Amino acid sequence: MARDARLEEIGAIAESLVRAYGIERPPIDLERLLADEPVRICPGDFGNAFDGRLEYRPAAGIFLAFYNTRGGPAAAGRPRFSLAHEAGHYFLDSHRNYLLGGGDPHNSEAGFRAAAPAEREADVFAAHLLMPAFLLAGYARDPDLEEAAKVSGIFQASLLASAIRLVESTSRSCALVVSSGSKVEYCLQSQDLKARGWLWLPKSLSLPRRRLRGGREKREGRTMSAFWKGKLPPTSGGNPPEGEITSFGSRRSTSRPSTG
Ligand SMILES: [Zn+2]
Repeated sequence: MARDARLEEIGAIAESLVRAYGIERPPIDLERLLADEPVRICPGDFGNAFDGRLEYRPAAGIFLAFYNTRGGPAAAGRPRFSLAHEAGHYFLDSHRNYLLGGGDPHNSEAGFRAAAPAEREADVFAAHLLMPAFLLAGYARDPDLEEAAKVSGIFQASLLASAIRLVESTSRSCALVVSSGSKVEYCLQSQDLKARGWLWLPKSLSLPRRRLRGGREKREGRTMSAFWKGKLPPTSGGNPPEGEITSFGSRRSTSRPSTG
């Protein structure tokens, strides 16, 4: 199965789980989703060791889902994202079977940074579990950084995850630009923008600073900044799409390694 199709399927699996439990309003009760499963939820302050970790204990026939609560309330949605990520390693058949078959558990890192396919899959699962499209629709009509902050509060998810889900869910033309300093880390396009085939910001492109606008926020070890509320400059030729483009950017703060 093609990579994108697999990730789409994983998003659908997570969302169908929320539906199956009859959860109709945010925030998603992760404990409830795991209550009937042989999974013991183990929160704790694990320092910088990991954000999450799922282990299988064959003698007891149970899984232990560790997730890092360091940072307390200031960590905002990160601990919940970590637990949702570990839930992905449990609910996704190939991930669970790997552990059941004696595979080594791994330390998970939140924040959409891990490149390993299994990590990316668990991140996608977590994002859809915490913010299923059917609950997000009302917020995705005109997404911007403010809306992402609102969603982050209501769904108890990280600002970055919220921004990603808004861009994925909206019918508007918009893009999420995640950057370190002024360098693009990655660019996520909404479906509509993709269909227009217009915007592409390659990795390491320097963002024009003069286009930076307000709305900067320090959260989860990153400084999120609103970029471009208006039309983006064409970067690869072609005509700009009609209507307004909204994008987001984040700049890492120097306070601590970023997560979320
Ligand atoms: Zn993981």
